[in-house]
Amino acid sequence: MIPELLQSQKDYFNTDETKTVSFRKQALKRLKAELIKRETAIISALEKDFKKPAFESVLTETQVVLSELEFSIKNINSWAKPKRVMPALMNFPSTDRLYSEPYGAVLIIAPWNYPYQLAMAPLIAAIAAGNTVILKPSELTTHTADLLNAIITSVFKPEHVSVVQGGVDVSTKLLAQKWDYIFFTGSVNVGKIVAKAAAKHLTPVTLELGGKNPCIIDATANIQLTAKRIVWGKFVNAGQTCIAPDYILIHQSKKEAFYKAMRTEIKKAYSNNPKASEDFARIINQNNFDRLAKMLVNENCCIGGETDAKTNYIAPTLIDEPKLDCEVMKDEIFGPILPVISYDDISEIDAIINSYAKPLSLYVFSTDNKKAEKLITKFSFGGGCINDTVIHFVNHRLPFGGVGNSGIGAYHGKLSFDTFSHKKAVVKKANWLDLPVRYAPYNGKLKWVRTVLKWL
Ligand code: NAD
Repeated sequence: MIPELLQSQKDYFNTDETKTVSFRKQALKRLKAELIKRETAIISALEKDFKKPAFESVLTETQVVLSELEFSIKNINSWAKPKRVMPALMNFPSTDRLYSEPYGAVLIIAPWNYPYQLAMAPLIAAIAAGNTVILKPSELTTHTADLLNAIITSVFKPEHVSVVQGGVDVSTKLLAQKWDYIFFTGSVNVGKIVAKAAAKHLTPVTLELGGKNPCIIDATANIQLTAKRIVWGKFVNAGQTCIAPDYILIHQSKKEAFYKAMRTEIKKAYSNNPKASEDFARIINQNNFDRLAKMLVNENCCIGGETDAKTNYIAPTLIDEPKLDCEVMKDEIFGPILPVISYDDISEIDAIINSYAKPLSLYVFSTDNKKAEKLITKFSFGGGCINDTVIHFVNHRLPFGGVGNSGIGAYHGKLSFDTFSHKKAVVKKANWLDLPVRYAPYNGKLKWVRTVLKWL
């Protein structure tokens, strides 16, 4: 079934229908109408999947998608238009242009943690750029996956856009096909599997992966505000966010004040009993619950630490001074657990941060601008914030993506359109003049060439 579906999309792409901008715009407009109509159903599916709070679903899923969609509809004419660039003197007289050309058949594989937004945002861009798409949502968020399927089926012809549901077996079958572009969001390990499958056909990829994101708090930070912003960035989606702060590195002089402020802010956000709060999500499944619960064993949970296996609940938790080789400091946490490690001198943090692969994000809390700037420049990471967490994600003028182990490529805003477009360079040479300098015989022309090439 998968090879046949893909072949039907390749045949459809070759009809050139998706290449006209008016067709793409109409498709996006139809999608927009459907998404607006179904917003309540989307919020409800997310709630059923992991008790995602409705407010968070609007803030981090439906509204993000709608903004990307509206931004694409508004700008698609200018994005898709061939762009004139300055010609090279050597080619005089010529007109040089960059054409944004769709790759063709695109595969999008999505994760479960923002199962709607991380499926829809790349899908919108792939359609805007004129590709056909097969989307594979995560098998762990079945309500959202079913709804995505229903939405796509009602808006698009299957040869244009289709959803294929399933787990690893289906994903493996999809990856065995020859695609023109693969866009993957998920874990580092599966990212490597995707890259290997893509390499077989030299298929270009975007890999949006994860990592262990440091959050540095220096001695000058405004602790109450820092705590408030960390509580939001860490515990939104119950910590199941690829750009959530993973661990805290704090100047020892501020640690106690930080704990006090975190207690206050957690209570303000989720009350004394976060389990009863409507605003705190659950861990996606038992496997992840068990993985996270293991991190708490033999640790000093100075805040939180309560768990409930029956409902996959883990309280907002802080671990005081875990050993660097313990479970919680091994890999990306991806849950509401926040280890806190103190330092005396800022130079101590280098070895800790550098012992992990390049993270997807890094955060610095400091009121010393020079120090903050130094830290942001010193370490390599996908993107991040000074004096806040996570919010760099919302600016569509900023690329969103990782570096090294945390990913290859980036998207959002116009960059999403560019991600799914090959930039084709075309020089249109005029015939009214044909400078003889490049043609043989070359005798005596070298001086000319050296001069002209300097004026590139
Ligand atoms: P995952 O890698 O387990 O799964 C992602 C997708 O890959 C799913 O659709 C799944 O069915 C498929 N998949 C799983 N195993 C596979 C295999 N062996 N072969 C082929 N396909 C396979 O990731 P997840 O658990 O869904 O998501 C969590 C991870 O994703 C975290 O590491 C997080 O940091 C990362 N993430 C990154 C971003 C980002 O934008 N950079 C966003 C969200 C999540």
